[in-house]
Amino acid sequence: LSNVKEPVFTVVDKRHQYAEESQQDTPKVQEAPANPAITEFTRKRRWKSVGYMIAMGRGPSGETLILGRAVGLRMDGDKPFVADYILPPLYPRGLDWTAEVTKRLDTFLGCECKEHHACDMHKNLIPGWMTGDMKRIGESMTVAVPEAIEVLMRLEQIKSKTPPLIICPGQR
Ligand SMILES: [Zn+2]
Repeated sequence: LSNVKEPVFTVVDKRHQYAEESQQDTPKVQEAPANPAITEFTRKRRWKSVGYMIAMGRGPSGETLILGRAVGLRMDGDKPFVADYILPPLYPRGLDWTAEVTKRLDTFLGCECKEHHACDMHKNLIPGWMTGDMKRIGESMTVAVPEAIEVLMRLEQIKSKTPPLIICPGQR
């Protein structure tokens, strides 16, 4: 009977073990050769991984927006942080949106944002980014449109107003 009680295998919850390790043994992390004393403080202030992508979003009036997006994974967690930069339809030559959006992403280093709960700083910052971007786009539309784009837009407008040509077989 004693054999029956013996468990066939033992489940070791490694996730818990790792969680404890990551909280208690942070100085043992091999990651940073420059500074061996990685504290919880510095882990919150470093990115483990950052990536960039183009995404679609919705504006305040439901309009479709094209976004330049930066996604960052902080050293102290497994939930990514996301910062967006609205790409203007008339794009200025040489503007590096990844540099702009990185400045925004970096504000999430060390802040207290939680999933579905923005910290006090980002409650103000995020709507400000959106209104700032929309204002910038609005201003860019009032500046003279380059002739090349103006001509293209005019041609496309004419094309869209022309009824589609229907070809009926047999009819000549
Ligand atoms: Zn925050």
